[in-house]
Amino acid sequence: MIPMVNLKAQYAEIKAEVEQGLAETIENCSFILGPNVQAFEKEAAEYLGVKHAIGVASGTDALHLALIAEGIGAGDEVITTAFTFIATAEAIKYVGAVPVFVDIDPKTFNISPDAIEKAITPRTKAVMPVHLFGQPADMTRIKQLCDQHNLKLIEDCCQSFGASINGKQTGSIGHASGFSFFPSKNLGAFGDGGLVTTNSDECAAKIKQLRNHGSDVRYYHDVIGYNSRLDEMQAVILRAKLKRIDQYNKGRRHAGHLYSELMADLPVTTPFEDGLGEHVYHQYTVLCDRRDEVMKALQDKQIGCAVYYPVPLHQQNVFKQECAGLSLPVTESVAARCFSLPICPYLEDDTIKEIVGVIRGVLTA
Ligand SMILES: *Cc1c(COP(=O)(O)O)cnc(C)c1O
Repeated sequence: MIPMVNLKAQYAEIKAEVEQGLAETIENCSFILGPNVQAFEKEAAEYLGVKHAIGVASGTDALHLALIAEGIGAGDEVITTAFTFIATAEAIKYVGAVPVFVDIDPKTFNISPDAIEKAITPRTKAVMPVHLFGQPADMTRIKQLCDQHNLKLIEDCCQSFGASINGKQTGSIGHASGFSFFPSKNLGAFGDGGLVTTNSDECAAKIKQLRNHGSDVRYYHDVIGYNSRLDEMQAVILRAKLKRIDQYNKGRRHAGHLYSELMADLPVTTPFEDGLGEHVYHQYTVLCDRRDEVMKALQDKQIGCAVYYPVPLHQQNVFKQECAGLSLPVTESVAARCFSLPICPYLEDDTIKEIVGVIRGVLTA
């Protein structure tokens, strides 16, 4: 069996370090916002090239708290993509704002700057691009549009830890950004976790207050906040993995490039890289008109494969009514043809060859 992601191999490498860190935490009983959360926040901020990184309970919370801290609220329009995980839009709904779904670029599957520009109205308050599958969105143009129209730029970096564009890390460009440490993400914990990054002192102070019951000083509460802290045990694991994140992402890039090379002659559209950014292949996602046949053959051979995402958000039951009549042709066409193959830093070249062999068998038969 070939899984989508091999977390066991990764654990073997960090086992000793993680076990020691966890044992120390248990010994010290410093379970909430302890020394590892503090150290991780500092190390993550340094790595990402941002002034502040604040640990929170999940990626969804990171986006939610970032929107609150940036003043997005009831009735505000937030322009985003429908080709993403539901949490992107959930965060917008939590603050009472309106997600305005626009179409994607056919090559990168990321939100189209032209489509953003066309969707701006007097009610638009923010733009929320997603660096989908680890591929940075076109941040140069998106930031220009946000500056020009005085809009908040909130990056959904839940799939893009370590990805960069024009030498800048994703999560260091917008007003505030959210990262997820869900176990299968490029930087994954052993449970839920998230991070907000920002260069604004004011935003950082608000996030710290919001994640801790609206409180700066214990038992003094200034606003209605949340219980959304990054867990100390998870911070131990994240610190061990953050040290190795470049190696992990390098392994993913190697695997992605080998897949693309081996499939160059097949009727499969492999991931596009524009050369401006560093794609970190959270997913290796291709387009193929014969998706169902190919996936069936892979499944028969116990090879992992999945469709991210089969139903774009504007067509989900939860948004169907709100988005009635909305057509996003590129998004719909990509969702109908995309599928993802196993990828992780521990995928052997021979395994990739075996997987491509199965795909080739279907498409050249
Ligand atoms: C994973 C993910 C989220 C949510 O992160 P959680 O940590 O699971 O809450 C949000 N947006 C995108 C694009 C994601 O992939």
